[in-house]
Amino acid sequence: MAKFELPPLPYPYDALEPQVSRETMEYHHDKHLKAYVDKLNELIAGTQYEDMSLEEIIRNSDGPVFNNAAQVWNHVFFFETLSPSPQTRPAGALAEAIDRDFGSFDQLAEAVKKAGVGQFGSGWAWLVRDSFGKLSVKATPNAVNPLSEGEKAIITIDVWEHAYYIDYRNRRPDFISAAWERIDWAKAGERFDG
Ligand code: MN
Repeated sequence: MAKFELPPLPYPYDALEPQVSRETMEYHHDKHLKAYVDKLNELIAGTQYEDMSLEEIIRNSDGPVFNNAAQVWNHVFFFETLSPSPQTRPAGALAEAIDRDFGSFDQLAEAVKKAGVGQFGSGWAWLVRDSFGKLSVKATPNAVNPLSEGEKAIITIDVWEHAYYIDYRNRRPDFISAAWERIDWAKAGERFDG
């Protein structure tokens, strides 16, 4: 029996249009994420990883097991970062921390875009919080995520080509700018506070 199941997309496939098309979401969720879930289940069958949570697998594995486990986690987190009806600006403690650590929300936007555009090849752009509450922006290659560094993920943008090629072709900067409009800062604030 497969240990991990493909989680449903938390909104309709066309709910992020026009920034992200239905076709992109169908491929991204039903093909790409499903492939990572299926491969992870195949790789962990009969191994010590079978009794671990997804987070435990990410912290205790490398190679193909890590890559597929982290990609499952990253995609679920990415889809939850975006929303059909986002709160488009941060509030409360997160807003204060953004002003403190980046100068302004606009400067945070620039930093995330720069990180995502600058990630050579496949990867992710993140806003993370360290154990002292300090925010930073980083890009990670391939499947690597902040869990591995002991940091808490606040938001992420997937910058693998499959995330944007249907809608934006090679224009990764345009995709990052569009995805930025769909980030739900209410949920980000809950993660920051949590
Ligand atoms: Mn992806």
